Amino acid sequence: MKPYTHRVNQLGIVLFAAFFLGLLFGSFLNVCISRLPQRESIVHPRSRCPECEEPIRWYDNIPLLSWALLRGRCRDCHTTIPWRYPLVELAMGLWLLSVARLFWDAMHLDTTIRANSIPLPTEAQIIGYSLSLVGVAILGFLLIGLMVMDWQTMILPDSFTLGGIAIALFLVCTQALFLGPNEDEVVLTKHHIQLTSPGGVVDRGNLFFTGPESLIFGRIAAVCGAALLLLLIRWLYKAVRHRDGMGLGDVKLLAMIAAFLGFWPAILALFLGTFAAAVYGVILLARGRAGATSRLAFGSFLSIGGLVSALCGNHLINMYIALLR
Ligand SMILES: [Zn+2]
Repeated sequence: MKPYTHRVNQLGIVLFAAFFLGLLFGSFLNVCISRLPQRESIVHPRSRCPECEEPIRWYDNIPLLSWALLRGRCRDCHTTIPWRYPLVELAMGLWLLSVARLFWDAMHLDTTIRANSIPLPTEAQIIGYSLSLVGVAILGFLLIGLMVMDWQTMILPDSFTLGGIAIALFLVCTQALFLGPNEDEVVLTKHHIQLTSPGGVVDRGNLFFTGPESLIFGRIAAVCGAALLLLLIRWLYKAVRHRDGMGLGDVKLLAMIAAFLGFWPAILALFLGTFAAAVYGVILLARGRAGATSRLAFGSFLSIGGLVSALCGNHLINMYIALLR
């Protein structure tokens, strides 16, 4: 057992590295946000100032730092660089930092587990949990991007939504590879491991399928369920209001959240997103800034719901269950 302070120092290094890596991903995400809705390539040409078209020098492209040193202006033509650039970088940095923290806690469960005499997680559980955290990291990248793109352009590119579903299902299949066929104790459907002792509380529904089958089919069912639910809401809205309330992009977005997190966390994201959109809509109406027919970037709110659900969904669901007791 390493001394406590030593471990704290290590944690600091891990979190800093994760934050820095997040900044770099955020910088790349900014390129995606600028180009994908315009259907431009994200690799070619090199980043240019949209105003004077001067290529951006490498030292003016350092996340956060360059924006601060340039005081938010282009070095050549002094056009304002939007706040969006440093904010997206910062958001991605904080996102990877949070995921790294979750990963760190999971890797150092041993002391907690010994204190509570719960059996140590199996190798499959550790790999499964690590893979689901990789999924959460990728989901954050996609959702932050979709949130900004929908807000600015009302476009949710398929490369992010459908591409995200493909990545998520690939991760689930990889998780399933590490499951033994009789490992019913591993209930991986809710994007975290439920540690149940052998012969303890087991989700009997899983016995219908083997572990890998239930994992893969369950997730595909979650994707279809989430998509169908939103299609139904979309259809009902159209029947009542005689106009489109949400686009198909929103449907794909919720299906993507379900692909990464499972059905119930996606429903939580839908609930949180709808609530946030309603609050925002009421504020706009009260200020006379919008009418009953104004369009709202619902995908942005759905993305925020997805981000909250991914990081603290389990806490929120547990709090809700505790309230019911
Ligand atoms: Zn310029």
